[in-house]
Amino acid sequence: MKIYLDHAATTPLLPDVMESMIPFYLHAYGNPESLHQFGDHASDALEQSRIQLLHILGDPEGKLIFTGSGTEANNLALFGICRKYKNRGNHIIVSATEHPSVLSPALQLEKEGFRVSIAPVDRHGRIDLDQLQRLINEDTILVSVMHANNETGVIQPVEQIAEIIRSARDSAAKKTPFFHCDAVQTTGKIRYNTQNLGVDLLSFSAHKFHGPKGTGGLYLRRGVHIQPLLFGGGQEYGLRSGTHNTAGVIGMAAALKKSLDELESSREKIREWNRMILSSFEKIKEIRFTCLPELTLETHIHLRVEKVEGQAIMQELSKRGIAVSTGSACHAGKSDPSHVMKAMGYSDEEAHQGVRITLGKTNTCEQIEYFIREMEDLVRYFKHRRLSY
Ligand code: PLP
Repeated sequence: MKIYLDHAATTPLLPDVMESMIPFYLHAYGNPESLHQFGDHASDALEQSRIQLLHILGDPEGKLIFTGSGTEANNLALFGICRKYKNRGNHIIVSATEHPSVLSPALQLEKEGFRVSIAPVDRHGRIDLDQLQRLINEDTILVSVMHANNETGVIQPVEQIAEIIRSARDSAAKKTPFFHCDAVQTTGKIRYNTQNLGVDLLSFSAHKFHGPKGTGGLYLRRGVHIQPLLFGGGQEYGLRSGTHNTAGVIGMAAALKKSLDELESSREKIREWNRMILSSFEKIKEIRFTCLPELTLETHIHLRVEKVEGQAIMQELSKRGIAVSTGSACHAGKSDPSHVMKAMGYSDEEAHQGVRITLGKTNTCEQIEYFIREMEDLVRYFKHRRLSY
């Protein structure tokens, strides 16, 4: 049996989504910028997808820039705002558990002369709102906090963060700081509305919601301006040059619509599987859950098995046909302790033990039962191995 429980890393492209893309590879393959019928056809479809996505995001008046990934959307948000508004201040804030595609641009901006503050999270992975409020000052031009964490699935109180930023904005009598939210892990999994969330910029990526890889988007609230990262043909309002991935954009819109159309039924199934896993593993004393389920996406279960490295669990499960992840970066075979677990107060040793199980709507109940049995067996195996040394 082959069981995929790594849906936070990527999801399979759904056949319906693939179907919607094929005509744009085989027939309507014109460059949307071309001034002939082939170009017009592609351009019309692209613009329809943009309108559809903006409606889904809850802000038809907003701007949507198509990018090549969630990573690119995050880079564009951070560099784009900082370079555009550098005359208003040189301070930015990012949370400690951000994805590397936010943390690395922040470090790069530090080298360019910006001051970067890291907003801490508590033991449960939630941002400390008082500390965040204290970090904001009149030099702050950008705050970037993710919607849900990719490793743990912990959901941040985005509306409350927006409120804090709004009051700082009012008291400083200027239009910054802006609020960027990396919603790569929540788009298609939670029904949200950018206006209710109170964000100014928001990133998402199609391959996380059963769309194609290599397609993402950056939403900008009306009136928010950025500097481009890529220069060239001037596509995407001059903010992201490069020939459009028309089929990718069509697939992204189709995938997001489908995810939201099926959201309630998928969530119900996933919630049940999540409950099955939690109630079985709660009985195993070596297994420790990292987060509180009520603060976490139901797709995510993050745990550690005492005294066993996450990588060992992942490799043993892989031998049994089950794909999970450790969540921490792996370079040349050596894994770093998870910066997310470290930020939550775990030791280096514990932060090497993280195991991330992420469910998707294409899983089945039999797969989850099989996984539970194999994991129970694996914990016994590691315990026995330890005791016999
Ligand atoms: N942000 C988060 C929270 C993610 O989980 C990921 C991917 O894992 C990204 C950004 C990057 O997205 P992409 O893989 O499309 O570059």
